[in-house]
Amino acid sequence: MNLDLTEDQILIRDAVRDLCQGEFASQAAKWDQDDAIPPAAIAKVAEMGLLGMSIPEEWGGLGYDARTVVTVIEEIARVSAALAIMVAVHNSVGAYPIYAFGTDEQKRKYLPKLTSGAVGAFSLSEPASGSDASALVATAKLDGDHYVLNGEKNWVTNGRHSWTYLVLARTGGPGPKGISAFIVEKDQQGLVLGKGEDKMGLRGSDTITLSFDNARVPVSQRLGNENEGFKVALAMLDSGRIGVAAQALGVIARPAWPSCMRPRPPRM
Ligand SMILES: Cc1cc2nc3c(=O)[nH]c(=O)nc-3n(C[C@H](O)[C@H](O)[C@H](O)COP(=O)(O)OP(=O)(O)OC[C@H]3O[C@@H](n4cnc5c(N)ncnc54)[C@H](O)[C@@H]3O)c2cc1C
Repeated sequence: MNLDLTEDQILIRDAVRDLCQGEFASQAAKWDQDDAIPPAAIAKVAEMGLLGMSIPEEWGGLGYDARTVVTVIEEIARVSAALAIMVAVHNSVGAYPIYAFGTDEQKRKYLPKLTSGAVGAFSLSEPASGSDASALVATAKLDGDHYVLNGEKNWVTNGRHSWTYLVLARTGGPGPKGISAFIVEKDQQGLVLGKGEDKMGLRGSDTITLSFDNARVPVSQRLGNENEGFKVALAMLDSGRIGVAAQALGVIARPAWPSCMRPRPPRM
């Protein structure tokens, strides 16, 4: 397999490099000190189309292939690992699943916004289920034309910035075959955004807890078939992991490590 960049990929890489070096490099350390990437920086990334880079053009995206997406994430990570993971998570597990598994109605409702500025998140992990993700216990009980969601989620990247959350919850029996996926909007009643994690690094990327207290999510916002949500999650994690690897390559390629990357004691 030839992994050399094509001429088009080199042009894209150079444009992203110009944006990152020109606009972000001088601010990125402060984002980690402030625990936040400012909305203006996210807007610049969106202006360049990078929030829709893995979505086909017919749905408002740029339709980049995996090699190009990796190149962009790597390039962003050279100046900010936090911004790189924000963009990677949004693309691979926030927006792309709606394209890959959504109905046409869901695509029409969500993709134009998610490719042009609104941010997406993915919520699988729970306090007692991380690596063993199929042991999750958050529930979604069918009640008429709604599912009623209850439970606790944690480690939600982009949690504070996001408009949509792809949430995995239990609709059936134990194990991977009893889980469904849902698109939950930020203003959903019963969805509570919790505290941010006090992380050792990557602090500009917001990582929060979520809780659901009888959140009534319309059946029309289930993503994929009932009890087949774990397949959605696993498919998305495959591309999510490649994004994390690209982020690592970008960090390694940095000429110098900023002071904010040095470990510091947690705040009291
Ligand atoms: C910065 C950050 C961002 C994240 N963003 C998201 C997100 O956006 N959405 C989301 O859903 N989740 C997210 N996560 C959660 C992430 O997916 C989990 O941290 C991961 O699944 C591991 O789960 P855990 O932290 O509970 O660790 P654990 O599962 O408790 O694992 C702890 C350690 O035990 C090891 N271990 C676990 N099981 C076994 C076993 N059976 N045998 C041997 N060793 C084992 C693991 O390899 C690991 O070293 C994020 C995490 C971090 C740190």
